[in-house]
Amino acid sequence: MSENGFFGDYGGRFVAEVLRQPLERLEMEFRKAMADPAFRSEIEEFHRDYTGRPTPLLPARNASAAIGGADIFIKIEGLANTGAHKINNAAGQALLAKRMGKKRIIAETGAGQHGVATAAACARLGLDCVVYMGEEDIRRQHPNVYWMELFGAEVRPVKSGSRTLKDAVNAALRDWASSWEDTHYLLGSALGPAPFPDMVREFQSIIGRETKNQLARLGIEEPDVMVACVGGGSNAIGFFEPYIDAPKPILLGAEAGGRGPGVGNNAARMTGEGKVGVVQGYKSRFLTDEDGQVSLTHSISAGLDYAGIGPQLAYLGEKGRIRFVGVRDDEALDALGFFAREEGLIFAMESAHAGAAAIVIARDLGPGKTVVVNMSGRGDKDIFISAAALDGPAWRSFLKEESERGDAL
Ligand SMILES: *Cc1c(COP(=O)(O)O)cnc(C)c1O
Repeated sequence: MSENGFFGDYGGRFVAEVLRQPLERLEMEFRKAMADPAFRSEIEEFHRDYTGRPTPLLPARNASAAIGGADIFIKIEGLANTGAHKINNAAGQALLAKRMGKKRIIAETGAGQHGVATAAACARLGLDCVVYMGEEDIRRQHPNVYWMELFGAEVRPVKSGSRTLKDAVNAALRDWASSWEDTHYLLGSALGPAPFPDMVREFQSIIGRETKNQLARLGIEEPDVMVACVGGGSNAIGFFEPYIDAPKPILLGAEAGGRGPGVGNNAARMTGEGKVGVVQGYKSRFLTDEDGQVSLTHSISAGLDYAGIGPQLAYLGEKGRIRFVGVRDDEALDALGFFAREEGLIFAMESAHAGAAAIVIARDLGPGKTVVVNMSGRGDKDIFISAAALDGPAWRSFLKEESERGDAL
């Protein structure tokens, strides 16, 4: 939990005056809701009936044997309905919005995964949904635009700036400043102005709580290492949550090492050239250029391709409670292939970064230790990237034939 919205020096609520009241109101309502057992049951019911929780914890014996190292367990968030952990947060906030009497949800999305989870939760709960998305992202992420619209959401193109995620965030904030009386802004990761980092962690902590119970049932009271990938940080902080205040286990965050070192080649806020700054309402570590502008980032995984990191993760990283490693694109691709071969699992490209870090640490620790990795999502959505990389010519000729067939219809 933050102290007045701060994690050490990070976090806070650096927003325009018009956004103070909606954020304060949200914080108050969030605290009241979490203290109400009826609200907690509503969340539980949603996850049981719709999301498909609890998600499994797989003892990955083949992978452990192939590595010759620690016992690996995989939390399969990819089996949550809509394919990733993002639904945990979307459902929690949408249910809270409904409780507050809001009729309309707005969100911003970059790659589109958060937009899809939000649109799905809104469809399920009967809420109007508008998703702001940069024009450039709309062009690049057509499949997710298709799903959002199928769920009945309006995808609103943002034409300002670089026409990507940060412009979409600005557009959503502008909307909210004048619409908050009947509208909730459903932010997608454990970042942004308070109370979002606390709120998103709370809704994602179901991953960690389930994992802890599932491990206990297997007789494992204390794993040695927990590994998660870190974009904004929501799956990681939710997965780590039950262990944050304890001295153990080792908490390991895998961020995008991209093509390697150098600004523009990665999204390594903690292991690369991240600098302290205040961007879009919160203080944390960001990848910025000489002028303090958020710089371009690169990752093979859209979900880790982000210049900022949640304030609590930055704080715990500097304090030494969470260790960070950078995982390169090619290492993530190798891990994707490894877990597919050994366990029949398709890791999302983001999650494959955690998988790659788990392989390395399981090998280093050796037999008799326990490594638990969060597979934050499944990789069906990444077929355009993974198949292009791993199955190049055959995949490209398939795409060509498909588009020709489409034209002939
Ligand atoms: C969006 C996404 C991430 C990154 O977001 P966090 O907030 O860091 O969890 C990771 N994995 C998957 C599958 C995602 O869709």
